[in-house]
Amino acid sequence: MNANDIQSAAVLGAGTMGHGIAQVLAMSGIATRLFDVDSAAVDRGIEAIGKNLQKGVEKGKVTAEACDDALAKLSGSNVMSSAVDGVQLVVEAVPEKLELKQQIFEELGQRLRSGVLLATNTSSLPITKIAEVTQAPERVVGMHFFNPVHIMKLVEVVETDHSSDEAVRCAMDLARRMGKEPIRVKDAPGFASSRLGLVIGLEAMRMVESGVASAEDIDKAMTLGYGFPMGPLKLTDLVGLDVRLSIANFLKEELGPGFEPPRILIDKVERGELGKKSGKGFYDWSE
Ligand code: NAD
Repeated sequence: MNANDIQSAAVLGAGTMGHGIAQVLAMSGIATRLFDVDSAAVDRGIEAIGKNLQKGVEKGKVTAEACDDALAKLSGSNVMSSAVDGVQLVVEAVPEKLELKQQIFEELGQRLRSGVLLATNTSSLPITKIAEVTQAPERVVGMHFFNPVHIMKLVEVVETDHSSDEAVRCAMDLARRMGKEPIRVKDAPGFASSRLGLVIGLEAMRMVESGVASAEDIDKAMTLGYGFPMGPLKLTDLVGLDVRLSIANFLKEELGPGFEPPRILIDKVERGELGKKSGKGFYDWSE
């Protein structure tokens, strides 16, 4: 397993994250098959990649040649066996459901020869439980990308107790080959990013709830006072309040009451105030 030798990959799930991961893999010169059970999602994913790359060309960030090369490396499929057949790398980005991911990894373990790196993009699920259903848990790692994938630099490479050093090293090198900055993290609930990010986000919500300051001013405290690129409440609106609530509930179970979701978050989710995607969260996005 050597990142520089990887020439072919399959990305499973062509949604928000899957199409972004496929784009960056293809831009790294890797022939990439984008698979989704929903063929319309495959088409949407490939179309979104084309638009992203075109935008990059217009802004002068991607050359026309690099854009053409990346598109030539991409293909779509709605048949898993043909998508993964013969590839050296699989990155899974299907919905955040443990049973679904386990089902997929069980099949991958049976179908793929040794030496294939198997990565999951889960943002919170225990990767050990995903790895343990395969016949070869040593080649399973987390590669946690961030949205939008073609812009965000961080990749959390998550190792389980079963991951081989070779697999972890390969994932770290692959992230670098993709132009990302990898960090190495143990398979602990919330990894590094979600766990720390959520602590700040939940505390900011409690401060709004108890009237310490407005959402705008709390965000300003962190952007201007601490140099955060975005305040924790605006970030919550972008991630989705429902998503943050479900991660908080999960981390509360795993790590204790410090992650208890505040009432204001629960109430907002119940009212359908999910952030930017619904037009309202801690901010008004209706414009
Ligand atoms: P999404 O809903 O946008 O996309 C998921 C895609 O998977 C859909 O197109 C769906 O049709 C497809 N799918 C469902 N079952 C499938 C199967 N059996 N095989 C293949 N495809 C299948 O989800 P997303 O936001 O891209 O999230 C995917 C993963 O990435 C999740 O584990 C999530 O936690 C993680 N993640 C998301 C973000 C984010 O900001 N959205 C960030 C980091 C990690």
